[in-house]
Amino acid sequence: MKRITLIKGDGIGPEISEAVLKIIDSSGVSIDWDVQTAGADVIAEEQTPLPDRVIKSVMENGVALKSPVTTPIGKGFRSVNVQLRKELDLYANLRPCYNLPGIKTRYDNVDIVVVRENTEDLYAGIERQIDDDTAESIKRITRAASTRIAEFAFNYALKNNRKEVCVVTKANICKLSDGLFLNCARETAERFPQIRFREILVDNCCMQLVQNPNQFDVLLLPNLYGDIVSDLCAGLIGGLGIAQGANIGEDCAVFEPVHGSAPDIAGQNKANPTAMLMSAIEMLNYIGANEAAFKIKTALFETLRAGIKTADLGGESSCSGFADEIIKRLRCII
Ligand code: ATP
Repeated sequence: MKRITLIKGDGIGPEISEAVLKIIDSSGVSIDWDVQTAGADVIAEEQTPLPDRVIKSVMENGVALKSPVTTPIGKGFRSVNVQLRKELDLYANLRPCYNLPGIKTRYDNVDIVVVRENTEDLYAGIERQIDDDTAESIKRITRAASTRIAEFAFNYALKNNRKEVCVVTKANICKLSDGLFLNCARETAERFPQIRFREILVDNCCMQLVQNPNQFDVLLLPNLYGDIVSDLCAGLIGGLGIAQGANIGEDCAVFEPVHGSAPDIAGQNKANPTAMLMSAIEMLNYIGANEAAFKIKTALFETLRAGIKTADLGGESSCSGFADEIIKRLRCII
């Protein structure tokens, strides 16, 4: 039986985790969940929101499913999400973004994969207070990390039958940092002649995405632009409630939804578990449980096609009610 770390998180984390676990359990796949707590709730007892036991568990198991953990704005601890990605060297953030059945959006046939560098840029946390009225953040970009993520994007494109990789920067302004990221992408592109290569500035990319998203295939971005553009892409397909994600490194992978802990709706059984479920489906594919992954996806899509939706998509289902509807359909498939 495969042992997988489950990080339950906070805010809507526990509700969506419970829904997703119930669905996975009903698919017949056997998983030994190694449940780990993290975030604000463990600080009092363990003096840190990300205890070493969590890192150790993911390293040992090689795979984790993670629900959101709140990042407090301003002073305090470093983001659990950022620290986890850094400590486990989960250098690639992969966010496939495509229309799901039954969810009407402005554009049909959106099918974009966001590949975001996950370890540096403004997320490196190199900040300093110059004086009371001045603060600085360092935007750190290295050749090694930029080449590694570019290779990931091109290899992903090749393996998944994608046609183009488009690198997104602001290299006309951040000439050295984004310029280096762009150059590494250019050099890598030369080694993948089968895949088309395109360059775009991030501001133009955002405008093009809202006007004509169907022109894009795989997007390759440094950390911060990747964060922002992937939320934009989530908006194109129906919002954060359905946007899946994965953080991938050489030795382990952590699957998690794009959204945060949504404190505004936490504890109300209102959250949409689809983003977490889609992330879990990719996790099942990653561990080779392709049949269970396929069945769960089919049941989810049938549920959405039947017009059953949570409030964020204009429906009336609760989080647990939506999960029950998926399980009902899953039982017919099995
Ligand atoms: P973070 O900084 O951790 O990414 P955030 O405050 O930017 O968090 P979210 O917590 O993702 O953003 O929430 C943004 C908005 O999207 C909120 O109004 C929230 O209620 C909504 N939202 C996020 N996830 C879901 C979900 N699974 N189901 C329904 N609504 C959601």
